[in-house]
Amino acid sequence: MKLYTFIGKTASEALTKAQDACGKDALVVNTKMLRKKTLTQDALYEVVVAVEDEKKVEKSETIFDKKKKEAIENTAKNISLIDSLSLGDKKEGNSSEIEELQKSLENVNKRMLELQKLLLESETRGDFVVPLEFMGIYQKLKSAGVKHSDIKEIVGESMRFMPTYMKSSDEMIERYFKVLLKKMIPVRREIPIKKQKVIMMVGPTGVGKTTTLAKLAARYSILEYNYRIGIISLDTYRIGAVEQLYQYAKMMKLPIEDVIGVEDFKKAIERFINMDIVLVDTVGSSQYDREKLKKLKKYIDALQIKIDVNLVVSANSKIEDLEDIHKEFSLLEIDTMSITKFDETKTFGNLFSLIKDIKLPLTYFSVGQEVPDDLKLANGEFLVKCLFEGFRNA
Ligand code: GDP
Repeated sequence: MKLYTFIGKTASEALTKAQDACGKDALVVNTKMLRKKTLTQDALYEVVVAVEDEKKVEKSETIFDKKKKEAIENTAKNISLIDSLSLGDKKEGNSSEIEELQKSLENVNKRMLELQKLLLESETRGDFVVPLEFMGIYQKLKSAGVKHSDIKEIVGESMRFMPTYMKSSDEMIERYFKVLLKKMIPVRREIPIKKQKVIMMVGPTGVGKTTTLAKLAARYSILEYNYRIGIISLDTYRIGAVEQLYQYAKMMKLPIEDVIGVEDFKKAIERFINMDIVLVDTVGSSQYDREKLKKLKKYIDALQIKIDVNLVVSANSKIEDLEDIHKEFSLLEIDTMSITKFDETKTFGNLFSLIKDIKLPLTYFSVGQEVPDDLKLANGEFLVKCLFEGFRNA
């Protein structure tokens, strides 16, 4: 007895072919649908018939001879063995061979998934096809919220410059990208103060300017250095904020002045002539409130010495807001940037995209509400770590 298989667009078409080839009395062993009809493809049916050995078959499409059948059965056995292994049911015998097979199957699966994602991506982003080896890194940057144009640029550059031997290992690729991203984060180191420095904290309301200033006052006067520190508050409309700053200053035994108007500001700076650092807290302003920003600019322009203007932004802001904040506050000729509220977000791609774009040196990171402890020196490696793994305060 031999088995013959016939294929048709319908079951009856396949059967007709079988009967034509094997005769009307051929025994139908099995009929099944191989593929459903879709918009672009016809359905596909398979009919298997059994025929006496001596009977001549005129025409057939695929033939299940014994050898092929055995090969298929063996493959099926192997697959079910691998399945049972993956469920923890380890079998004796040639397990290393099976493990190897299992690993390569896992790899194939992984690559297939990546390929699937790649296809999805390239469908939605027709302008950019991510090479397979960079798919993992692409996904990480994307889910961290890095802007598509930045990913495209970074991955594109890496495709050209990454040494070929590195592309064979996911670990090496990730390490390469971490180093590359870190290099894109400018940081300004703390250097010993030689002449008086006036640092002004500017930024939107509620981002943590006053809190960061209090942490800095403690760092400069007690924790890390022994500088003479004076504090000025331009934020006199917000009684609560002034109160808070007075409390901190009192605790640290630091002189503090609150100021209204440019002349008042100049006089306060003169009174602090012997201070190594004067820290200036400002009234928070919406980035869209041009009048308030212009008023602030008058304070900055009033002094003979250059004020170090530090823009404070919060890590949990959207990229569009961060970009607007930077753009509008640029009126004040910002020198550096501090980032607060690391503990209030899981994604850091927004910050990375901003920093990459504006190239403003970073000074401090605020990683919580506690004064003075929750302050870090800005650090590219730490930010990249947050980008890949989220924030962990260690
Ligand atoms: P300002 O209006 O910019 O001066 O902001 P404040 O310094 O008054 O801070 C506003 C709120 O944010 C306060 O409740 C702070 O305790 C809080 N804050 C400041 N920095 C951080 C931080 O890094 N993490 C968290 N979770 N809260 C912070």
